[in-house]
Amino acid sequence: MLLRTLREEPAEAEVPSHRLLLRAGYIRRAAPGGYTWLPLGKLVLDRITAIVRAEMTAIGGQEVSFPALLPREPYDVSGRWTDYGDDLFTLKDRRGAELLLAPTHEEMFALLVRDMTSSYRDFPLILFQVQTKFRDEARPRAGLLRGREFLMKDAYSFDLSDAGLADSYARHREAYQRIFARLGLSHTIVAAMSGAMGGSASEEFLALADVGEDTFVACTTCDYAANTEAVVTPVPAVAQREHPPLTVHDTPATPTITALVELANEQALDGRTDWSAADTLKNVVVTVHHPGREDSLLVVGVPGDREVDLKRLDAALSPATVTLFDDFAARPDLVRGYLGPQGLALRYLADPRVAPGTAWLTGANQPGKHATSVVAGRDFTPDGTVEAAEVRAGDPCPACGSGELAVRRGIEIGHIFQLGRRYTEAFAVDVLGADGKPVRPTMGSYGVGVSRAVAAVAEQHHDERGLLWPDEVAPADVHVVAAGKDGQLGTAEALSAELVSRGLRVLLDDRQQLSAGVKFTDAELIGVRRIVVVGRRLAEGYAEIRDRRTGERHDVPVTDVVRVMT
Ligand code: ATP
Ligand code: MG
Ligand code: MG
Ligand code: MG
Repeated sequence: MLLRTLREEPAEAEVPSHRLLLRAGYIRRAAPGGYTWLPLGKLVLDRITAIVRAEMTAIGGQEVSFPALLPREPYDVSGRWTDYGDDLFTLKDRRGAELLLAPTHEEMFALLVRDMTSSYRDFPLILFQVQTKFRDEARPRAGLLRGREFLMKDAYSFDLSDAGLADSYARHREAYQRIFARLGLSHTIVAAMSGAMGGSASEEFLALADVGEDTFVACTTCDYAANTEAVVTPVPAVAQREHPPLTVHDTPATPTITALVELANEQALDGRTDWSAADTLKNVVVTVHHPGREDSLLVVGVPGDREVDLKRLDAALSPATVTLFDDFAARPDLVRGYLGPQGLALRYLADPRVAPGTAWLTGANQPGKHATSVVAGRDFTPDGTVEAAEVRAGDPCPACGSGELAVRRGIEIGHIFQLGRRYTEAFAVDVLGADGKPVRPTMGSYGVGVSRAVAAVAEQHHDERGLLWPDEVAPADVHVVAAGKDGQLGTAEALSAELVSRGLRVLLDDRQQLSAGVKFTDAELIGVRRIVVVGRRLAEGYAEIRDRRTGERHDVPVTDVVRVMT
């Protein structure tokens, strides 16, 4: 086996998983943000892949595989050639045609389904691949945790109704819970922002780890949990030109909700406010500032499409909705305001009934005036500055109101999205419905960071001596150490062969030139749970069985080892 463990701490390693995977000979850096899988690492990667594949197949997923090198055109149609920003790796071929290395494949799956289906009978459909993705990350970091080239399982569901999408989403959610349980990853499912993917509802699976880059809040009493990104937007570096201009209007004499929403809607329709930014979002939050009462605001979550449908809006404004949000001062957990010299910026924090991915209206605090501006997923003061509000540990839970919020960190190992029709519309995917009329399928997209999961498992399963793999993902079932030069090797080889013949995967340390001490240290570093040592006591007919996790050791007759292990 090509294996060289390192005694020294690798200088490049920032976090335990990275350090240990390098030291124990699982991976090796080959490029900025690019890692070579060494034999041990490849074994673990393949086991994780197999688990992911099995659970995807179990929910009816069909595996396909797309190229990573794709033409620009479909990404132009979806708008992501530009929307994806600097993270997109682009290149030109010898004829000058523009290409990209795909960061994710929504476009290609929508096209495939457009080209290969024709009738409602072809649905529902779940397709997936386990494939290498490329992203020019601003900060590749911590080895496998954030690569520029990484392995992702990406799945896409196609349904003909919203209920169908909800069902596909629920199946993936459950499959992910099974996958991460099998990987031994303790995780939390949090409400998330949809980001460049577009779409509405989305949730992330965060593996609990201090080194994780995601911060989330979790209620100590109920099951509410949300990525802080989804609770409050981090300060984005937005340039002034990115905001739509603010228009100041006279506030209606009686600021009824309908009147104010009409006001906001008018602006949308005459183009002065950029409602288009909100068309991929599920909710629009309308905030209203009552002149003269700084503490009195209304925040209403409404189903938001390109144009706000006032009838639906009025229906959404049940007295209960209004009452809950009526008093800003009374619900600082739901809304944070920033009163600047030129106006009031609001941050809608969280509400269990309003999915993340919201837009904000900001209200100017000039007496008698009301100004609105909608910017997707971001909020501003009217003068264009951005205010960041932080959620703090102890803040009351927005879901149950009684529990407190704990702030924790995690590694994003999976992300599931209800995309809706963004891509099927962009590519005009239409199929014939049961009634003979065309139907446009609705899409979900579901990602697991397969290579990142290797690091996440290592992050959660190690101690000061090395890695400590859960059995399901370990590179071997048994690590046999031949520790001695008096016939131990022959016995260790025979034992290993016997274990292999019983279906176990065996790692045999037959390095004759090394001392027993070095081999033990390496075995602990490599982290297979069950270790069989064929050493000094072989003369009396005994081998030692060690449990890497509990530290237990006991001698068993060599003739019993196979029985004990199987
Ligand atoms: P992150 O917030 O960490 O940048 P993302 O939200 O951009 O991740 P998604 O687009 O949701 O990632 O992709 C699906 C999954 O792919 C993620 O949940 C994560 O597990 C994995 N992933 C994303 N970027 C990377 C990366 N640079 N290296 C390794 N895995 C990644
Ligand atoms: Mg990212
Ligand atoms: Mg993310
Ligand atoms: Mg994500």
